[in-house]
Amino acid sequence: MSQVASNGESLTGGVKINKDMTVVITGGGGFIGGHLVNFFRSMGVKKIRVADIKPLDEWYQVFRDVENHAGPIKGDCRDFKVCRNLCTGADEVYQLAADMGGMGFIENNKALCMLSVLTNTHMLLAAQEAGVKRFFYASSACVYNADKQKNPDITALKEADAYPGLPEDGYGWEKLFSERMCRHFREDFGMHTRVARFHNVYGPEGTWEGGREKAPAAICRKVIAAKVSGKHEIEIWGDGTQTRSFMFVDDCVRGINMITHSGILEPINLGSSELVSINQLVSIAEEIAGIKLKRNYKLDAPKGVAGRNSDNTKIQKYLGWEPSTRLRDGMERTYRWIEKEFLAKYNAKTAHLSSISTFTKGSHPIPGDGYNPESKNMTTWTQGIPAGYGAPAKAKASSKGGKSKPAAKKAKPAVKAKGKAAKKPVKAGKR
Ligand code: NAD
Repeated sequence: MSQVASNGESLTGGVKINKDMTVVITGGGGFIGGHLVNFFRSMGVKKIRVADIKPLDEWYQVFRDVENHAGPIKGDCRDFKVCRNLCTGADEVYQLAADMGGMGFIENNKALCMLSVLTNTHMLLAAQEAGVKRFFYASSACVYNADKQKNPDITALKEADAYPGLPEDGYGWEKLFSERMCRHFREDFGMHTRVARFHNVYGPEGTWEGGREKAPAAICRKVIAAKVSGKHEIEIWGDGTQTRSFMFVDDCVRGINMITHSGILEPINLGSSELVSINQLVSIAEEIAGIKLKRNYKLDAPKGVAGRNSDNTKIQKYLGWEPSTRLRDGMERTYRWIEKEFLAKYNAKTAHLSSISTFTKGSHPIPGDGYNPESKNMTTWTQGIPAGYGAPAKAKASSKGGKSKPAAKKAKPAVKAKGKAAKKPVKAGKR
């Protein structure tokens, strides 16, 4: 990689990268982590340690010239011993490991999302013990107060909008908590922690099927599947008017490097400010594919907040820079990459199988989930605390499949499954 981007901008934003440092990147078998490893390699950094809980053959990008710690024994950063091993002698740590995915995953797997707190805590402790010079933490726009995102014509979110705290349930709460832990490690222990709040990152070499994928990849895949199968229809989650901004992964990696080496102490937005609706995103993918599809709106699907955009005033002020890859250009590269992957795996007859997800509610492969009727009575509190929550009488009745209406409805499949739970095969959902 040259140090200059195609538009002539410096890729490092003027940061002088120390090629002799030891860099640790967790979650490096994932989408953004893989690109970050490649960034530092290309900048000539010689000692890079990469960790991921996934086995090496499931990593999106594997580089043989770096030190790879893969799989649940060597690469699980929930384990303090693993973190210690990674951080010893390290100069900089980039903490990207997280159990996460798109809305379909995070709305249905809140406990799994919150368990990432173990990873963040142990990596911070190990980094502090090892005396690392810089610690970067990947936070998310999901930390923002849900009340400020109820309208698709949203005013862009500025950093202060994270408080008072009402983040995305599960995933967002964990991110907000871990952000604060970074802050207190800085204030109390003098660690140089830096935190960026990513707004929807997309690009090649990331998840595009299986249930963890995010909207741009999911839409590319659905358009490709429609084209390949000849069934010119697309399912859209929600009514398509929900708005978002999407940041191309190259911009994300450049931003991570600049923020880590800056004096920006508080969490800062790292996102594009080019706002689009999901309908517009579908139109972009259709245009790239050269087809028009019939749109079927699935109104009860997980769709997240109504509107979200990144206010880039702060990053402009501090760095004189902001992510600027045009969505149309980034989508073209993403679409082409997913198309190649798709065609290597599916054909006209099998294209429909690409929409199978194993992360639908009640079908999660973790034993215990979904089989206790009570486990279904806690609906999301993203939009506030659900009516009746905390009222013991109602909660008791509904756990027996009794009076409370929504709870009784949800309890049904769980009651049916009683006794056979352990043997029940994992049902695949659709996304
Ligand atoms: P990803 O799922 O592709 O990568 C995360 C990686 O972490 C995965 O490969 C996963 O196997 C690994 N991981 C999970 N638990 C682990 C553990 N205990 N030990 C070691 N590795 C573990 O996701 P991504 O899009 O590359 O996201 C990277 C980071 O950026 C995450 O922290 C995520 O929360 C954050 N983020 C991403 C987005 C986005 O749009 N992609 C937006 C906001 C924040």
